Amino acid sequence: LVHAVNVHKAFHGNEVLKGIDMDVRQGQVVCLLGPSGSGKTTFLRCINQLESIDGGRIWVDGDLMGYRDAGGRLHHLTDKQVAAQRREIGMVFQRFNLFPHMTVLANVMEAPVQVKGERKTEVKERAVQLLDRVGLAEKADAYPGQLSGGQQQRVAIARALAMQPKLMLFDEPTSALDPELVGEVLTVMRELAASGMTMIVVTHEMAFAREVADHVVFMDAGVVVEQGPPREVIGNPQHDRTRAFLSRMR
Ligand code: ATP
Repeated sequence: LVHAVNVHKAFHGNEVLKGIDMDVRQGQVVCLLGPSGSGKTTFLRCINQLESIDGGRIWVDGDLMGYRDAGGRLHHLTDKQVAAQRREIGMVFQRFNLFPHMTVLANVMEAPVQVKGERKTEVKERAVQLLDRVGLAEKADAYPGQLSGGQQQRVAIARALAMQPKLMLFDEPTSALDPELVGEVLTVMRELAASGMTMIVVTHEMAFAREVADHVVFMDAGVVVEQGPPREVIGNPQHDRTRAFLSRMR
């Protein structure tokens, strides 16, 4: 579903991604691990074109994402094409980014109604089901400020799913949460994985990666150091950098 080849990205001459290759098959859960600053977030943002890449190519479900050529010229799709591609990709951020002035239900309904122009009655039915799925049916009329961080993050997941994406990107979805609230969010993500959703998850939750990931990618300083099934990369890492990172996590 995602095919990334030799992806490069620099900010003001600072090369953050130095040739990333990655493949994610339909229904797979891929966990991205690595120290702070290794480029994990940037790579996720390149996949849904919040950042444009400087070199290499990314395809999502066969569609080529925008890129720059060697002369720095942007080979972008039109804004409309980018928007259409992005609609297919759900993203959940470290900070939940809910609309504070809208109820939980309105947050979940917003994008399908405003961006896709779907009918409110249909979207509402789906939104209610999604809130039920993340265990928050009874909070539909509450405002984000009345919820715990874990509940807000579960709403954020429901909101992303309301667009019926074919790919879900998670950027450290539990790292802003109090420890006792991490589990409820991971449970929702585990269920989503079991339902067959294709997911790329940047996380420091090793137990989650070990248990849920089909494939683990360890990044450091803008390169993929090693990748493979969790029992290899986490259970029996081959590189010193991976070992050093994992020993700090334990
Ligand atoms: P973390 O776990 O801290 O989120 P990360 O592995 O996700 O780390 P990135 O957030 O991708 O790493 O950042 C990689 C590098 O790119 C960092 O040095 C960061 O300062 C830099 N960077 C990221 N976004 C920008 C930006 N918009 N402008 C300039 N530099 C940026």
